[in-house]
Amino acid sequence: MIIVMATPTIEQIDRVLEKLHQHGLEASSLQSYGKTVITAIGSSQTQDPGFYERMPGVEKVMSIVTPFKLVSREFKQENTVVTAGSAVFGGQSIAVIGGPCAIESYEQLHETAVAIKQAGACMLRGGAYKPRTSPYSFQGLEQEGLNILKAVSKEVGLPVISEVTDPRHVEGMSDVVDMLQIGTRNMQNFALLKEVAKCRKPVLLKRGASSTMEEWLMAAEYIMAGGNENIVLCERGIRTFETYTRNTLDLNAVPMVKHLSHLPIIVDPSHGTGNWRLVNPMSKASLGAGGDGLIIEVHPCPEEAVSDGQQSLTPGNFQQLMTEIQVIAIAMGRNII
Ligand code: PEP
Ligand code: MN
Repeated sequence: MIIVMATPTIEQIDRVLEKLHQHGLEASSLQSYGKTVITAIGSSQTQDPGFYERMPGVEKVMSIVTPFKLVSREFKQENTVVTAGSAVFGGQSIAVIGGPCAIESYEQLHETAVAIKQAGACMLRGGAYKPRTSPYSFQGLEQEGLNILKAVSKEVGLPVISEVTDPRHVEGMSDVVDMLQIGTRNMQNFALLKEVAKCRKPVLLKRGASSTMEEWLMAAEYIMAGGNENIVLCERGIRTFETYTRNTLDLNAVPMVKHLSHLPIIVDPSHGTGNWRLVNPMSKASLGAGGDGLIIEVHPCPEEAVSDGQQSLTPGNFQQLMTEIQVIAIAMGRNII
C-alpha cells in the first residue's frame, strides 16, 4: 500500500506511521515527485485503505500489487522524463548516447565526441573504471580518464556519462559527469544503489545479464526509495544458450517495462549483440519496439580499441546509423534532436 500526502505536517505523518505500525505494517516515509509518500508493506488482511484515506493530511491511498511501488505505472501513470545536462530521456525526442567503451586518451575521446555530436548524439559515454572479466585486462584510466572526460565535455559541449563501480567513487564522479551508469554486473550491488540514490544525479540503470525484469525494476525501486527519481533503464542483453552473439538482446523488455513502469528505457545494442554488424539493425528494432533512446559504442579505430572493439562503430557507421534511424523515429511519432 502507498499513502500519498500532499502537504502534511510532521505530526500528520507521524500519526499515519504510528497507525501503520499498530496495524503490524512495515512503513517508511520519503519524498517523491514533490509529495510525501509512505510505503507500507504487510499482509493484505491488515490493510484497510479506507481507514487511512480518512486520516488528516492524506491525499490518496493506493494498493499496488507489484513488488516495486514507486517505479510502477500504477503509482504514476504519466511517462517520466529525465534530464541530464542538456540530454532528455523519455520526451518527444529519441536520445542517443555515443562514445567509446573505455577512455584511452584525450585525442581518442575528443575525436569521438566531435564526430558523435556532429551526427546528432545528445551525450558522450566513456568508461574510466572498467569492470572487466579478467583482472589482467585493461581496467580503465580511472581518475585520469575522468579528467579527460571533463575536459572533452567542456570543449565539445556535450553532457557525459560514465560507469560507477564503487560506492566510494559516487561523490567524486558526480562532480564530473551528468549521469552515472550502473553496469550490468552491479545492478544488484545494493550498497552502490543506495549511494547513487543519495547523490540525486541522473542514473542509467543497466539490466543485470541474468536478471529478470522484476529484479531490475526492484533495483530501480532501491534508487527511487532512496530519494533519486532520475532513473533511466537500459536493456543491454541477457545471457542465454546462444553463442553467435555476446548476449541476447531482450527487446521484449522495452514494451513490457513501458507497461509496468513510468521510467524511460533505452537500449544498448552494442553489448546486447557484441557485434558491430548487428548494431544498426538492432538499433532500429529497439526504437521500433518503443525505446526512448540508444547507447552505442563508437571508436575512431575499432580494431585498435582496448576494449569492445568488435562491437564498436566507426564514426562513419555511427553517422549512417543516425541518418537511418530518423525514419524509424518518425514512424514512432518521435524525432531525434
Ligand atoms: C559498458 O557500457 O561498457 C559496459 C561494461 O556495459 P555493461 O555493464 O552493460 O556490460
Ligand atoms: Mn563496453
